[in-house]
Amino acid sequence: MKLLEGKTAIITGASRGIGKGIAHTFAQNGCNVAFTYSSSVEAANSLEKELQALGVNAKGYQSDAASYDQADQLVADVLKDFDGLDILINNAGITKDNLLMRMNEEDFDQVINVNLKSVFNMTKAVQKTFLKQRKGSLIHMSSVVGVKGNAGQANYAASKAGIIGFSKSIALELGSRNIRSNVIAPGFIETEMTAKLSEDVVQGWRNAIPLKRGGSPEDIANACVFLGSDLSSYITGQVLNVDGGMLT
Ligand code: NAP
Repeated sequence: MKLLEGKTAIITGASRGIGKGIAHTFAQNGCNVAFTYSSSVEAANSLEKELQALGVNAKGYQSDAASYDQADQLVADVLKDFDGLDILINNAGITKDNLLMRMNEEDFDQVINVNLKSVFNMTKAVQKTFLKQRKGSLIHMSSVVGVKGNAGQANYAASKAGIIGFSKSIALELGSRNIRSNVIAPGFIETEMTAKLSEDVVQGWRNAIPLKRGGSPEDIANACVFLGSDLSSYITGQVLNVDGGMLT
């Protein structure tokens, strides 16, 4: 059964990693996909073709989620190119890790702008459309680190914790219009980024997880399908930990 048949989603940061996994899984579930990226033009072009081959409308947009104006323009473009809009997935994110002692102002500001302000920018940009149609699902990508904190990631943890407060507030503000806002907090997800780490380090992480493995982009994508679909129509303001039991 295709759980997202006929729906349209915007997914930010889908040229690789988790976002790319979500885009594939959404297309397999019949969802039309508008996705963004920062600089990976070739990867975005290939993804566009892969998604179209699955029989859905798909288009990639180079758009900086940290820019209020670009987010606004993006949504206007998507509304012209696609037939409606049902789901927004705020997935784009970056890290600039350092201990507080060595973290400079730029590293703090950049992470907050790309990870947290982007969520404000994009949610503002889709708000009018969702309000008018009295329907919409907002899904924001936080992290286990936003719930728990992590040494060396004060900027990242602050941005990811901020997303949770933002989402819960929006759930309260927009619930009466049937607009739902939920957060996914992934644990350790094995992507190209983690493939750069040594096998010993990765194995150490896997051993510490109750389910004894790292997550895959598809594990996160399946949770997004649930929160984007009508199966979750009575769920809002929640944080769904998709982490193999890490926070248990
Ligand atoms: P990733 O592989 O580094 O991919 C990041 C994506 O975001 C890329 O498509 C990148 O585009 C895009 N992007 C970066 N800056 C952007 C900007 N300013 N505007 C628009 N797009 C931008 O990351 P990931 O591991 O898949 O993580 C995806 C999300 O999950 C992030 O929010 C991350 O914090 C969260 N998360 C990841 C893990 C994990 O273990 N991987 C765990 C918890 C939470 P380009 O390719 O053009 O650079």
